Amino acid sequence: MNIVVQKFGGTSVADHKDRRRAVQCVLQAVQQGESPVVVVSAMGRSGDPYATDTLVQLMQAEGDTLCERELDMLMACGELISSAIVAQAITAAGHRAVALSGGQAGIITDDSFGEAKILEVRSQRLIELIQSGRIPVVAGFQGATLQGDITTLGRGGSDTTATALAVALKAKRVEIYTDVAGIMTADPRLEPRARRLDSLTYQEVAELAHLGAKVVHPRAVEIAAEGDIPIYVRSLYSDDPGTVIASRRSQPIPIYSDKVVTGIAHVSNLAHVEIYTDGDFNDGLAIRLFEAVAGANISIDVIYMSPTLIAFNVHDSQADDLVEILQGLGLSGQFTVETGYAKVSAVGAGMRGVPGVMYRIVNALHRYGCSVFQTTDSHANISCLVKESRIQDAVRALHEEFELGM
Ligand code: ASP
Ligand code: MG
Repeated sequence: MNIVVQKFGGTSVADHKDRRRAVQCVLQAVQQGESPVVVVSAMGRSGDPYATDTLVQLMQAEGDTLCERELDMLMACGELISSAIVAQAITAAGHRAVALSGGQAGIITDDSFGEAKILEVRSQRLIELIQSGRIPVVAGFQGATLQGDITTLGRGGSDTTATALAVALKAKRVEIYTDVAGIMTADPRLEPRARRLDSLTYQEVAELAHLGAKVVHPRAVEIAAEGDIPIYVRSLYSDDPGTVIASRRSQPIPIYSDKVVTGIAHVSNLAHVEIYTDGDFNDGLAIRLFEAVAGANISIDVIYMSPTLIAFNVHDSQADDLVEILQGLGLSGQFTVETGYAKVSAVGAGMRGVPGVMYRIVNALHRYGCSVFQTTDSHANISCLVKESRIQDAVRALHEEFELGM
């Protein structure tokens, strides 16, 4: 059926002018003989009337403890409004479109409200609509449980809607329209020499996203990878081809295999935690410690453990809770919890097994006067904890060292 999934982010449907441009992209696909399935985010950004954050604030005004199920119902409205308006805009431009909620589009999820997982996509209704020549406009970021309760897929989840539908419909590609040119080698606000990447592998993008780059939602990338469906990330307002995300074997544009680092990501607002013992953490103390942290639903990152030292990082909004937990475990005087840290990561599928990457990272950070407080690594990344006040220089140091700039 030649299906293409086109996802429009919040800024790409924010006002009439943006929507007119989005409709042009949809109709262009039709003219090329393709069958578009449109996925939309809530209109605009925080502060705009129907943006997700604005809806959350509405609910917060009624009391601090939010009812998860009702919050999902409310948040889903942002995308519903967007889908109805965009369907109307397409129909007004002369092509029949049908707005659908996530549930109506067949997205069935579990009932973990706020972070629901897609269990299956029942694509029959979408297929019938496409076959009858209509353009489905699906509200992103949401699904429904088998009981019919509305769920949301986690913040940024409209990307996940797009790739999940693409896999279910065996689409030939996903296009993600946004307000940036594509995926950049680093955050351009910190490194003005950052440039757009032509192509990346799924793994590289998933790593960049997990490590702080606000590009495509990592879960969306993982789903696309399973179906081996290429994702094109591009700006609504330029003819620039944007960035292609695909597997190494099906890359439409060659990936330069001699590159060890593809991009630099960073995360701010971290608190660094160190806990010491005169005894041995392996004697049960580590189990009690990690159990208490998990019980408080605190996610930890860049974890280090030895018999006498445990170190990790948490989001700084959780620093006070963590202090309480450690005191509750009788560890007073044996720990430090310090805010003001950030994590910089060098990401590249090509670094696997290549000697000397860490040497270059430490050397570059030293050149810029950035001390390293902790590190962690995988096959495709090396991350370093630095002081938050030094993050811009840390990003620049690595960007320069791996010659990623223009
Ligand atoms: N509107 C939702 C959010 O802001 C989902 C999305 O835009 O992807 O998180
Ligand atoms: Mg997004």
